[in-house]
Amino acid sequence: MKAQILVVEDQPATLDLICDVLKEEGFEVQQAQSTAGARDSLRRAAPELLILDRGLPDGDGLDFLKELRTEEKWAHLPVLILTARKAVEDRVLGLKGGADDYLAKPFNTTELVARVEALLRRSGKEAPPPFQVVGELKLEFESRRAFAKGKEVALSAKEFDLLWFMISNKNRVLTRDFLLQHVWGYEEGLDLTTKVVDVTVSHLREKLGPAGSVITAVRGFGYRLDA
Ligand code: CA
Repeated sequence: MKAQILVVEDQPATLDLICDVLKEEGFEVQQAQSTAGARDSLRRAAPELLILDRGLPDGDGLDFLKELRTEEKWAHLPVLILTARKAVEDRVLGLKGGADDYLAKPFNTTELVARVEALLRRSGKEAPPPFQVVGELKLEFESRRAFAKGKEVALSAKEFDLLWFMISNKNRVLTRDFLLQHVWGYEEGLDLTTKVVDVTVSHLREKLGPAGSVITAVRGFGYRLDA
């Protein structure tokens, strides 16, 4: 049984598209077209993830989210914000406003599904796999051991977390801010120095040796792990 998702979006065509894509992936989907409708739905069912449009007829999705976050029941609900506005400030606002991730419209449905699945994994709604393998790297989740070419590599806790996260989000460019937020848990990562990311990546690559070449720096953006 896949997770239950509430989609709040006022444009019927976009709402249908999102719901159809998620249903095709096997998710159970509820929908609402306003913050009032979302409230109703939340009273009836407890979703495991919320997809929330910002521009709703009865208010800003971010204000609604702020309100939700004050309630114990919804304080940790994973939330993906949708917005037509691409400005970086919007993203900052979204992340500071209690959103877990952000997707700018128009979006590609494959990316939407990938973000939803990553959010569910991170929130522990879907159990992490026991191990992950990429190229010559193997990571074991429970024992937190890492192997390169079959030989164990001693990683620090952060190095392991970072590598596990990058493998979980392979083939995708991850910005330093995104990594700070999700690996280091900084809610306001954009205000903090991102140098710690560069330093940790550099140590990680050094320790992994040739097997670490799957991690590529993407100039002006961040890092990507290629599978
Ligand atoms: Ca809208």
